[in-house]
Amino acid sequence: MVVCGAHNQAILRYRLREELPSRLELVSGPGCSVCVMPAGHVDAFVKVALQPDVITTTCEDLLQVPGSRESLASIRQKGALVEVISSPRDCLDVARRNPDKIIVYPAVGFEATAPSVAETILEAASEGITNFCVIPSIRLLPPTIDSIMCDPEVDIDGLLCSDHVTTISDTEAYTALAKKYNISCCIAGFDKSDILRGLISMVMQIRHGVSLFDDSSAVIYSSEDNQNARRMVSEVFFAVDTAWRGLGTIAESGFVIRDELSLYDATKRFNVRFGEGEERCSCHCDMIISGRGLPPDCPSFGMACTPQNPIGPCMISSEGICASYFKYNLEPSRAAQHA
Ligand code: SF4
Repeated sequence: MVVCGAHNQAILRYRLREELPSRLELVSGPGCSVCVMPAGHVDAFVKVALQPDVITTTCEDLLQVPGSRESLASIRQKGALVEVISSPRDCLDVARRNPDKIIVYPAVGFEATAPSVAETILEAASEGITNFCVIPSIRLLPPTIDSIMCDPEVDIDGLLCSDHVTTISDTEAYTALAKKYNISCCIAGFDKSDILRGLISMVMQIRHGVSLFDDSSAVIYSSEDNQNARRMVSEVFFAVDTAWRGLGTIAESGFVIRDELSLYDATKRFNVRFGEGEERCSCHCDMIISGRGLPPDCPSFGMACTPQNPIGPCMISSEGICASYFKYNLEPSRAAQHA
């Protein structure tokens, strides 16, 4: 299972599947944070964005993701103030420029995103910036991979993970997963050689019947950076049961903001709860992000569902497996036709 969306994209860009033996099958995992966003979370972002005097700041990928009825893009067209930013710290600039507005940031991402969001909240608190808050929607991959591995329909021999996880996730969590399910696990960078080294390591582990955690082809961050990141994250967040699109609610798989910093928690400030939401699309993203199929297994892929007319978040997000598959894997004439 290729856990990370960026790894999936790199594998398609390098056309690695075509070079690998046919017995080595690569399936995708839940590692695209926009793809796993349930409609109920998008509904909460929309509800807060529609409050008076609110400016919502968001990454571009999240704009089009559908909630039960609206997306951030659709309410922006109707006049809601929604700005695209490139990093959480940009929110503080928007807050300083707009003292009469409240800047709300839907924090969507995995554990690797958490340190920069935590740092921004701590910076706002230390500067006394009070017109900024966050809707926490950060998810944790290890508990979710654990849950996917329990599915009898899923038959995974190894996990290829990105080196982003080493910034915050305990490597022990991945070592424990490898041992628990008797699978191989490798952390690798994004170059072709890193990915190939990672895959070879995993095949060798499987061949020799050992389950271990190999990070030899990863970029390892200094332990000081890791300690700082973990300190900030634990100062700001704690883990709770969280809903994932297509995967249900998974125990302790997402972060919420600690009570001491509730001024920076938009769910408390605007009294908004994450509801169930209503998935509008007849999309097979749940199958794709849990390793039970690839985009061509979805009847809509490249037909009813294209990057120009996306049905589900896996086609909307630039790191979504369906968007990447369409971009790199459809025959060039068909891709050009849709470009
Ligand atoms: S091709 Fe479209 S409808 Fe099918 S799984 Fe992907 S995003 Fe969903």
